[in-house]
Amino acid sequence: MPFRLWFQAPRRVLVLFVAITLVSAAALSWLGWRTLEQNRALDKQREMEGLELLADRVSGALDRALADLQGRLDSPAAGLPEDTILLSAGLKDLEATPAGRLVYYPVAPAGAESPPARFAAADELELRRQDPAAAITLLRRQIENGDASVRAGALLRLGRNEKKLGHYAEALAAYSELARLGEVRVEGLPAGMAAHEARCRLYEQAGRAKELAAEAAALHAELSVGGWRIARATWQFHLEEAARWMSPPEPAPVDGNQLVLAAAAEWVYQRWQADRDSSGRQFLTLEEQPAMVVWKATASKLRAVVAGPRVVQSAIGSVARDPGVSIAFSDAAGLAVLGRPATRPRVQVVRSAAESGLPWTLHVARTDPAPPSAQNRFLAAGGAMLALLLVVGGYFVFRAMAREMAVAQLQSDFVSAVSHEFRSPLTSIRQLSHLLASDRVPGDDQRGRVYSALVRESERLHTLVEALLDFGRMEGGSVRYRLEPLDPVQLVTEVTEAFRLNPAAAGYNVQLRAEPGLPRVAADREALSRALWNLLDNAVKYSPENKDVFAEVAGQGSGVTIRVRDQGLGIPASQHKEIFKKFVRGNPASAVKGTGIGLAMVEHIVRGHRGRILLDSEPGKGSTFTILLPAEKRP
Ligand code: ADP
Repeated sequence: MPFRLWFQAPRRVLVLFVAITLVSAAALSWLGWRTLEQNRALDKQREMEGLELLADRVSGALDRALADLQGRLDSPAAGLPEDTILLSAGLKDLEATPAGRLVYYPVAPAGAESPPARFAAADELELRRQDPAAAITLLRRQIENGDASVRAGALLRLGRNEKKLGHYAEALAAYSELARLGEVRVEGLPAGMAAHEARCRLYEQAGRAKELAAEAAALHAELSVGGWRIARATWQFHLEEAARWMSPPEPAPVDGNQLVLAAAAEWVYQRWQADRDSSGRQFLTLEEQPAMVVWKATASKLRAVVAGPRVVQSAIGSVARDPGVSIAFSDAAGLAVLGRPATRPRVQVVRSAAESGLPWTLHVARTDPAPPSAQNRFLAAGGAMLALLLVVGGYFVFRAMAREMAVAQLQSDFVSAVSHEFRSPLTSIRQLSHLLASDRVPGDDQRGRVYSALVRESERLHTLVEALLDFGRMEGGSVRYRLEPLDPVQLVTEVTEAFRLNPAAAGYNVQLRAEPGLPRVAADREALSRALWNLLDNAVKYSPENKDVFAEVAGQGSGVTIRVRDQGLGIPASQHKEIFKKFVRGNPASAVKGTGIGLAMVEHIVRGHRGRILLDSEPGKGSTFTILLPAEKRP
């Protein structure tokens, strides 16, 4: 179809409709999108403000946590929260409470250890003279000593000498004895720990792998929970030693929080060593984790409270409970100190160390998906409704236009069909009249035939005009059927007989079959006759080969059926409904003359009689049109 035809009525309306709809839809979408964007920016701003506030609260909470620690400096250690210790140190002593929270100490306590000189004789026998048995005799006397530190030194040596002689049981007995001395120092270690160690070495030497692993595991476990008061280097060395004896399997790593606590205690102790008369409060990053320290010191006394990462975390947790918000700290080098800065935050606030007043950069970020705002939801719903409306409206308009266009096409086909129908009788009439007028018809006989031809053609014209007029009236809604009681058999007989005489029926065998004793029907004689005539006319028209046509009247239930049957061209099932619409002509009909209004009229008439019309047809086998009429209701 040429493009410009789309701009002619009725398509013009369609194009206009589409254009207006599209333009308004585009304008609305743009507006909606702009509003959505603005809302989004506003929401983001609001969330940023929320995060700023949260960052302030986090800094405040940490400050408060520090102040809380300060308050505990002077109170007793009892009731200290988890992951916190109170450190009190003098020039010679150092106390960490509650006990067992430090895996190592800032310094090892200067516990009284028996000087090696006390064992000079035994050592001489053992090491120089290589006479462990003699050394044992000497040492056995010393283990009776009242001084625990002497006993410890003697037991350790006794075990060693017994081991040299291969007396493992005796050596182990000496170590068990030694273990009972607990914190008493021997060779720089608490006796308990020295006993574990000595046993490990014994098992190693004796090749008793299973016992070695168990003993080393016990040693490692105690070191991991701060079993002894030893300095960091000693702790580290023996921890590694124990791990070496144990593995495989790899021992479980030491709890990071405990490491931080020990490191923090060490930090504050060293700080005191450097500057004895000071006090202060400090956030720290130790072992890549956060810690807090407050302290108060004089030249001879230090008191400090040290808190590990859990305390920092719970201080933050007390103000930030929203699971959609991630809070993290990183140090000056950008390494995470607490939490992990979100990799893809939706919105985030970053406070540098200078801004936050903390030694770390604070990252507060929202990682949860943005909650849809009520306004946005409303807009989205509006947009969806609009789209739906457009689709549905477009569909209906398109359908209506398509229908209109089809009707316009049918109408134009109808006009040409009608003109065609008119042309042939008119041409005949004109030619016959010319013949008569020019007196060129010889004889009365011939003239008579011309006259009857004239009558026939004008009848045809008349019928056609009548049909068109009737159709016009039906379309205009001005037809009123005058129903009266009628004998259906009589009506069908009359119409069939009249039809047989009609020139269109010439050569056809129109048979009538009527059931006797049928009830009367309420019918408009003329209209029903026209309907039946139309059906008979079609039956003849569309049966070019088989010339048998049947008109049948029969009873059906309480009503009556008038059936017109032929054995002609038949109608494909796809057209069974369509052909009852006005102007519609079936496919095989194109070769046959017609206007496409006959069946529309039949249906109109049948409906006017509160009846129904049915079609049963198959291409090539013929068609049966059945009119169902209710019996007349007698008053
Ligand atoms: P017209 O006969 O003028 O075309 P109608 O409304 O009477 O219009 O019929 C509509 C169409 O139905 C016809 O064009 C034809 O295709 C089909 N039709 C009607 N009656 C028959 C029939 N008896 N046999 C085959 N086709 C029929």
